[in-house]
Amino acid sequence: MLETYLKDLEEVVNIDCGSSTCAGVTRVAEIMKRHYDSIGFATELVDLGDKAGKGLFATNKPGAEKFDIMFNAHLDTVFPEGTVAERPFRVADGKVYGPGCADCKAGVIAIFHALKNARREDLDRLAIAVCYNPDEEVSSLSSREWLAGMARKCTRAIVSEPGRASGAFVRSRKGRSVWNVTFHGVAAHAGNNPQDGRSAVLAAAKFTIAATELQDLEGKGTSVTVGVIQGGTVCNTVPETCVIKIDTRRWNDEDGREIDEGIEALARQNWGDGITVEAVRLSVSPAMPCTDKAKELVEIINEAARLEGFDATWVDAGGGSDANRIAQVGTPVVDGIAPAGGCFHSEREYLRVDTIENRTRMLSRILTLL
Ligand SMILES: [Zn+2]
Repeated sequence: MLETYLKDLEEVVNIDCGSSTCAGVTRVAEIMKRHYDSIGFATELVDLGDKAGKGLFATNKPGAEKFDIMFNAHLDTVFPEGTVAERPFRVADGKVYGPGCADCKAGVIAIFHALKNARREDLDRLAIAVCYNPDEEVSSLSSREWLAGMARKCTRAIVSEPGRASGAFVRSRKGRSVWNVTFHGVAAHAGNNPQDGRSAVLAAAKFTIAATELQDLEGKGTSVTVGVIQGGTVCNTVPETCVIKIDTRRWNDEDGREIDEGIEALARQNWGDGITVEAVRLSVSPAMPCTDKAKELVEIINEAARLEGFDATWVDAGGGSDANRIAQVGTPVVDGIAPAGGCFHSEREYLRVDTIENRTRMLSRILTLL
């Protein structure tokens, strides 16, 4: 199996398919379509608009209204055109290298091989939905509705982002919100009449401290990070404007609401005479908590791993993925269920060859245990 897996992986790694290289992403979707056609699945290239390549839907039960399981992975990478020519697929010292080899092509190919090698009776018994989306690396802007709609039809979901370098899977992910807060003050000459100025930078600095105090790193595990502060123009002027950008993270949506309301409340406070504040939440993404239903899935995967001779280990991750959007519609989901690797989004990205076979066989086993 390893040999054909690597051959299939090489084919899709050696195609430039950054999120905005739509033709490349579609090319990968077409290759995977051909693979699924070859094992008798019904397939459909999914048109998600002109800002993304095509997605792929494949199923063993065409026309099903409900699916027992959804397998998701993404077809795009973060790398620009020309990357493949610079550093194509290669295998050395037990690792695979090449753009997107782990994130997320390892998962794309692992799902296919798991289904190709699945037991006939499992395929007869279960309705399986495979959803490959083309734009995860740009927040699935074109595919998120399609994914959410598919997830609603599925009893459970497995997202095959790569496993962590340690081999661990992901059972929960933090949600996130991003804020832009703009402070307006009054400009004045720093030497002649500083008393007439109202410093937007000073207000933003005080606000930064207050906003940061909304976090509860130790207890609830929430964080509020003012990652950017931009204000003033020249050194000898009381600054008229300042903008801060805030990133917040939370393990559940309730804590998230609390933090977001806290930021809104701060924005309504008085930050100095002549200072006005404008707070805009740019985005919010839901948390992926490890619910009781998700725990059942974790247990099934633990058992499948054990049957393949290894112990599954799990992490709770601070970053988000499509799994957050699947969790949002109430479908139990776990993530990172694919061969393991590291250094994602960099030219040092690698995939651990020693995790390919047992993870892929584990994916087939999961079907048997459902
Ligand atoms: Zn990914």
